[in-house]
Amino acid sequence: MADCLFCKIIKKEIPATVIYEDELSLAFRDIDPRAPKHILIIPKKHIPTTLDISEEDKDLIGHLHLVAGEIARDEGVADQGFRLVLNCNKNAGQEVFHLHYHLLGGRRMGWPPG
Ligand code: AMP
Ligand code: ZN
Repeated sequence: MADCLFCKIIKKEIPATVIYEDELSLAFRDIDPRAPKHILIIPKKHIPTTLDISEEDKDLIGHLHLVAGEIARDEGVADQGFRLVLNCNKNAGQEVFHLHYHLLGGRRMGWPPG
């Protein structure tokens, strides 16, 4: 999608610190990290929110979770624990309307999230 920030990162029109890429997904470091490890994992397909996921995306969503686990291991936060966060719409604070998981780790997390 032309005016989507994360689509521009996928197309390398905007720089990002990419740590993982395959044909379906991309992962890069959050520009404003809220934890020692803060990585965004996104599908290359433009899906605005979790409410826009369709039947045909089921494998893709599963794939993103496998990628998240791989990154957590590579980043050294798997054993200590980490959080995978998906914000949807206004009350959750979604700012970028291209589906993304936040992988947060490297510190103790509070519960419930603020
Ligand atoms: P959300 O509030 O769930 O939509 O999260 C959007 C995230 O994107 C925030 O954590 C931002 O810090 C992050 N972000 C915004 N612009 C960039 C960028 N150019 N590169 C990396 N992360 C970004
Ligand atoms: Zn997009």
